[in-house]
Amino acid sequence: MLFSEAADFFSRIEATSSRLEMSAIAAELLKKCEKEEVKPLVYIMEGNVAPAHEGLDAGIGEKFAIRAIAQVSGRGEKQVEADFKKSGDLGTTAENLLKKRAQLSLASTPNSVLKVHSSFMKISRLSGAGSQEAKILLLSELLNGASPLEAKYIVRFCLGKLRLGIGDPSIIDALSMARHGDKRDREAIERAFNLCSDLGEVAQDYMAGKDLSRFSARPFSPIRPALAERLPTPKEIIARLGKCAVEAKYDGLRMQVHIKDGKVEIYSRKLEKMTHMFPEITSAASALRCNSAIFEGEALAYNQKEKRYYSFQETIQRKRKHGIEAMQRDFPLRLFAFDIMYLDGKDLTLEKYADRRKALEKLAAGSSVIVPSEQIITDSPKRLEEYFQRCISEGLEGIIAKDLSAPYIAGARKFAWIKLKKSYGEMADTVDAVIVGYYLGKGARQEFEFGGLLAAVLNDETGELETIAKIGSGFSEDEMRKLQEMLEKIRLKQKPKGLNSKLEPDFWVKPKYVITVAADEITLSPMHTCGLVGETGYALRFPRMMALRDDKSPQDITTTKEIISLFEMQKRKAAS
Ligand code: AMP
Repeated sequence: MLFSEAADFFSRIEATSSRLEMSAIAAELLKKCEKEEVKPLVYIMEGNVAPAHEGLDAGIGEKFAIRAIAQVSGRGEKQVEADFKKSGDLGTTAENLLKKRAQLSLASTPNSVLKVHSSFMKISRLSGAGSQEAKILLLSELLNGASPLEAKYIVRFCLGKLRLGIGDPSIIDALSMARHGDKRDREAIERAFNLCSDLGEVAQDYMAGKDLSRFSARPFSPIRPALAERLPTPKEIIARLGKCAVEAKYDGLRMQVHIKDGKVEIYSRKLEKMTHMFPEITSAASALRCNSAIFEGEALAYNQKEKRYYSFQETIQRKRKHGIEAMQRDFPLRLFAFDIMYLDGKDLTLEKYADRRKALEKLAAGSSVIVPSEQIITDSPKRLEEYFQRCISEGLEGIIAKDLSAPYIAGARKFAWIKLKKSYGEMADTVDAVIVGYYLGKGARQEFEFGGLLAAVLNDETGELETIAKIGSGFSEDEMRKLQEMLEKIRLKQKPKGLNSKLEPDFWVKPKYVITVAADEITLSPMHTCGLVGETGYALRFPRMMALRDDKSPQDITTTKEIISLFEMQKRKAAS
């Protein structure tokens, strides 16, 4: 398939905000392409050259893309910059200027999908001296053979700003629709994806008609993390689970550790590799007695002098690229391991939690850095409540109750895990929301150009973001300065695509940064669009920012469905 043909589909996907329509268009594209084109096309639609956990990105800076566009369009760099100033998007600038190009260069041949992907791959692998020049050359070559529309997507991709607006759930629907015209295989595709986090590979096998049940956990393919449900009281938790494991809920950094033949990799909650940041965990993992394993835990920094754990905000400082040795000395980590998914060649995801826990305890025995999470087993709401209170008094976030007979449920929020957190006001949990805009300072805040945030949650049925809170408090002066600096860089001229909002902040921003927000309660409000029925939506009352969540991505935020369920829980709690 020619890349210009794929670009036509991309442009149709970009033009719609209906998730179903996006999937239908992507399905048409997947049906048309050859078997070997499925994988690269899926990566490209995701905005990547390879699965995200491999950490490859085309990574061309604006300055260099401008040079490539200038060369190919026959304009000066100044002209390219002037058009960019007007359009605000280098992809559109490339499209504009290539339209005006008199004729295609004689030597140029049209780009195929495979050629474009392999050039992106080469670009992403170049590093070191002279690499920028080599990247410009590869990009110019692609642009030489490109139609104006194609050039728009090539340039955006290389800048890491493809923004088609289609997410993994819609691509999964598209795959099923490409083969059957409906979503019947969505669960099977999702299961395979959750186990290997490589949608390109799953898509390739699926479109070739292969059996997806071959996908299982394997070292160095991160597993999409299991998520916790909520219930408001110990009584409801025991009513649901019966006799269960109740574990301390640590507020640190979630880590997935993979080991095979002496090699160790550590993946973040977002499944990015972060092995080099945590040398003490890596060496503790390689000292464990096993040939291969995948396990998960929450890492916390420990203050040896004061014999206490640092908070999430303090722990997260360890997520740094520099000064790792000093960090390791001042904030040594302990990993509270809470699940194991693979051991010595065997996938454990389908085993009962009680059995996985035994395997985990055996594996961690003898390590002082990797220790099993603290746990009690009970069927008594009273005992659960006492344990919960003890955890809170020790400065922990709460507890997670676990179904002893459940498998490891990758990538989903099911009742295998139920969290009970210390409450903020009437709410059973904090909310993770994405920043979609910000306000300018007023009064004493005029000194900063920052006066508050507009935040949204995700309606996972429509794929749209819906606003839930205008947040004006919870920030220190330092945080305000940092937020303003970060947000200024991702300002948008218009409301972000896929956002439903009645409010208009001073500046819109790309939905990129996730924050944890506490509030007194969830109320109904005509101002916000979350769960809108008629004119009324759900809103957070007295919202305050608790933390900036580098470890979570916009796909991981609280959903509208969860907000409605939190609202119902709030009513139940008040009634009891
Ligand atoms: P939340 O982020 O509030 O939805 O809570 C779920 C998170 O709690 C998980 O993603 C883990 O990072 C963290 N966590 C802390 N302690 C445990 C534990 N014992 N078992 C499972 N998850 C835990």
